[in-house]
Amino acid sequence: MERIIPFTREHEMFRESFARFVAGELVPNYERWEDEGMVPREVYKRMGELGYLCPWVDERYGGAGADFLYSLIVTEEIVGQGVRSVFAFLHSDIVAPYIASFGSEEQKGRWLPDCVSGDKILAIAMTEPGTGSDLAAIRTRAVKDGDSYVLNGSKTFISNGILADLVVVAATMDPSAGPKGITLFVVERGMPGFGRGKRIPKVGLHAQDTAEMFFEDCRVPAANVLGGEGNGFRCLMQKLQQERLLCALGSQVSAERCLKITLDYVRQREIFGKPLASFQNTQFTLAEVASEIQVGRSFLDTLVLQHMAGRNVVQEVSMAKYWVCEMENRAASRCLQLFGGYGFCREYEISRLWADARVQTIYAGTSEVMKLIISRGLGL
Ligand SMILES: Cc1cc2nc3c(=O)[nH]c(=O)nc-3n(C[C@H](O)[C@H](O)[C@H](O)COP(=O)(O)OP(=O)(O)OC[C@H]3O[C@@H](n4cnc5c(N)ncnc54)[C@H](O)[C@@H]3O)c2cc1C
Repeated sequence: MERIIPFTREHEMFRESFARFVAGELVPNYERWEDEGMVPREVYKRMGELGYLCPWVDERYGGAGADFLYSLIVTEEIVGQGVRSVFAFLHSDIVAPYIASFGSEEQKGRWLPDCVSGDKILAIAMTEPGTGSDLAAIRTRAVKDGDSYVLNGSKTFISNGILADLVVVAATMDPSAGPKGITLFVVERGMPGFGRGKRIPKVGLHAQDTAEMFFEDCRVPAANVLGGEGNGFRCLMQKLQQERLLCALGSQVSAERCLKITLDYVRQREIFGKPLASFQNTQFTLAEVASEIQVGRSFLDTLVLQHMAGRNVVQEVSMAKYWVCEMENRAASRCLQLFGGYGFCREYEISRLWADARVQTIYAGTSEVMKLIISRGLGL
């Protein structure tokens, strides 16, 4: 079915050139990066040089002032070609927007050009060992001291955690104030008192450098407060719509890839003297997977258009984040089953797609948290 998104010739040309870049420069190296546990920082630099990072950033700060569809295309090609641990979407479309939306002119001028060029890699640190879903309960403490703030505490599961040069850190200035106590700080690589743990070994996303971060009397200048004191929670809530939309989009594309490679496999695999594709179980399984994928695609493309029109679709995006990410997990698991034992072997891509899918229902807000938001919207 044709997509309802009105991609222009320029979008298609961008997709073609970015797809060539992914196929030529990312895919051939990806297995090595998985073994090494991270993507080299040069990848960001190269993407920056070619105009693939933060395409939406205003031209004043070195960007192309492009629309959201360019970001969508980058995510679709990265996930669609199976190099999902390259978290360019986190850098470009989740963290950089905090700087663009809540940064002062001085901050935007200081940081955005380096985000566009890939000279500085971004991360966002909300989650702590003691709290994830309940963001208002964070304990990393910021205390004002003269013209700076002193941070103490720790964060965990931070994506791009090793590579990041600029980290948007959520800290509380008053734990008893809940959401109102939270402030965002941009902590920079090399600031005294800012340390990181080792990469966290995970069941999937092996080339993603997820890590812990530590703040021990880390002094952050007042010039690095983002969005004003006590406004951190509000800023975070404002940006969740795009973060969750992109997360659901990643799941959608990966589910589509699961179906594609499984269709290829069942056509060539012979069992009991006939192609696996000829068994009714195979046909019905893939018919169900394909139907769910189509439902997801229609829903998401509608949301993309609503999001681009500036509508508040937090409820619907929460539904998409919940349903599409769960759908991807169902699709990946059912497709893997059709590969038999080969599906469990790393040599077969379906095993990676299945393992990488698992975190989708956890990060950027768990499925349960999405259901909380949805049920609140129902007045419950
Ligand atoms: C690979 C990876 C990358 C990540 N990247 C980042 C990052 O870049 N930055 C960042 O800040 N964080 C990141 N995270 C953290 C992620 O956002 C959290 O793991 C997630 O929000 C859940 O928090 P938690 O792990 O503390 O689980 P918990 O909050 O302890 O939840 C445990 C279980 O309880 C359920 N639960 C929680 N609250 C409720 C409720 N009210 N009702 C019913 N059930 C509930 C949850 O759904 C879950 O099933 C990442 C995590 C992973 C695994």
